[in-house]
Amino acid sequence: MNLLSCLLPDATHVRLETWTLEPAQSAITINLRARQTTACCPLCARRSKRVHSRYERTLADLPWGEHAVTVRLSVRRLFCDNKKCERRLFAERLPDVAAPWARRTTRLTGRLTAVGMALGGAAGIRLGRKLGLNASRNTLLRLIRRAPMPDVATPSAALLHGPSGGAAGRADIGISPLV
Ligand SMILES: [Zn+2]
Repeated sequence: MNLLSCLLPDATHVRLETWTLEPAQSAITINLRARQTTACCPLCARRSKRVHSRYERTLADLPWGEHAVTVRLSVRRLFCDNKKCERRLFAERLPDVAAPWARRTTRLTGRLTAVGMALGGAAGIRLGRKLGLNASRNTLLRLIRRAPMPDVATPSAALLHGPSGGAAGRADIGISPLV
């Protein structure tokens, strides 16, 4: 694996086709496509290698130094040959590169979410700009809302029901056990 491949999002599943550097714009564009020849139907999970067509997704990625990075990801549409499946065509998914319909790579989304969770909307945007992670306030707030809730410890059974079990617990909260 070469140095450039190490810097790709999910180098295990995508390979670098070409790249361009535009020094005047401090911009890098990398063109990626899936390494695997087959992909799983998202509905029935059957693998397929029958390609219907291709299209290109444009994704913002983490900056490389002072350069903004754009990923152009070539995505295949494949046939699902499972007669029992309702899906005839599906687009291959590369969730470690980007979620379906996302406009940012997964790793950029994670970085923005972390900044937003730590600082909130306005301060998060200010720091994000300094780090080369540009996003609107609405985007940052949307990412914060979508972020999974942190794990919260649930009260133990002993706390809920008391050390002697369910009957004591019900008595504790004023409900007498039926006898
Ligand atoms: Zn299917």
